[in-house]
Amino acid sequence: MSLDIVGDDLKVELPTGESVRFAHLDYAASAPCVTAAARAVGDLLPRYGSVHRGTGVRSAASTIAYELARDVVAEFVGAGPEHEVIFTRNTTDALNLLARALPAGTTTIVFDGEHHANLLPWPNQVRLPAPSTPAEALRSLEEALENTLSPALVTVTGASNVTGEVWPIEEIADLAHRYQARVAVDAAQLAPHRPIDLRNADYIAFSGHKLYAPFGAGVLAGRSDWLDAADPYLRGGGASASVGDRPGELEWAAGPARHEGGTPNLLGAVAIAAVCEALLQADRDALHAEEQRLLTRLRDGLPDTVREVSLFGPEHPRVGIVSIAVDDPAGLAQKLAREHGIGVRAGQFCAHPLVRRLTGASESGACGTAPGLLRISFGLGSTDEDIDRILEALRSY
Ligand code: PLP
Repeated sequence: MSLDIVGDDLKVELPTGESVRFAHLDYAASAPCVTAAARAVGDLLPRYGSVHRGTGVRSAASTIAYELARDVVAEFVGAGPEHEVIFTRNTTDALNLLARALPAGTTTIVFDGEHHANLLPWPNQVRLPAPSTPAEALRSLEEALENTLSPALVTVTGASNVTGEVWPIEEIADLAHRYQARVAVDAAQLAPHRPIDLRNADYIAFSGHKLYAPFGAGVLAGRSDWLDAADPYLRGGGASASVGDRPGELEWAAGPARHEGGTPNLLGAVAIAAVCEALLQADRDALHAEEQRLLTRLRDGLPDTVREVSLFGPEHPRVGIVSIAVDDPAGLAQKLAREHGIGVRAGQFCAHPLVRRLTGASESGACGTAPGLLRISFGLGSTDEDIDRILEALRSY
């Protein structure tokens, strides 16, 4: 089936000599590849060539595949004629691209609970403290908007990479639009779990490797006007329509090509589109119900010795991500890998201000290092057995 996981029978050997199935519970970092993506890449490789630039059959097939991929992604994000879809390297790249494309003088408004990819790129930044409730988020955002001149951009995560909690992006977009501000959604963690739609945002960014398409591409989709008016993200071939003899004598390309300088990542784009297509055809409600069932199984089974963290409270909706406070997250993560064949993530997950707040810690650490939390995350292909294995392992310490 197209949403089956490639390598879901991966085995690891434990110190006891026993061979067990690897329990992958680190989807929020990078999700495994699904067969739709692997198949799309494998099918294209015999005809693989350079996109946009050649006359031969390989180039023609590759150009068609690349532009078709763009169309599928456009459908996946509900893009209309006023939008464009730009292939990037990942979410970080997509958000940096948008940050550089903002009209001069744009004020950006961001909560400090964001992943660094959605915290650090923004110029002229009003930084709001991560709220304790969605209502508080809207209140402090409204206060900031009241004191902000246009143009303004509110940029917010769709789902937290630390707590898994879903942010009230529709309400945030409604509010921002009332003040003529635009909204960007960092959908790195939302897109793999829930439908995303440009009706709820002006810009959406996500990564292929978190969306079961780990071939090095990402997406920025959103309103064309600012993007078309901006300097190209990367200056070079592809981004230029015509170049004269003197420096500065040139015309930049219009549309997505303007920000896709250099040879694009065709296989990455095709892989993302294959997953988008498979998800468009899938029963998303059923996938959601299954994920929520596993989430309940995990949360209900956590031993009393660990504390689950949350920003908006335990009842708030979330995707398949749970972070827990334990004594030595890095040490425990190592033990889970070595002694139980379970992959999780420990550290501050490139969200230092948020993790400091959730743990009450005062120090920061490099991405992925302790101190911090231990994060359990899952998605397509995850099973009761994966959840039960980590629960049993956690109970044994
Ligand atoms: N935003 C969120 C919420 C994330 O979780 C991540 C990665 O973990 C990113 C952005 C950055 O994604 P990438 O490393 O693919 O650029």
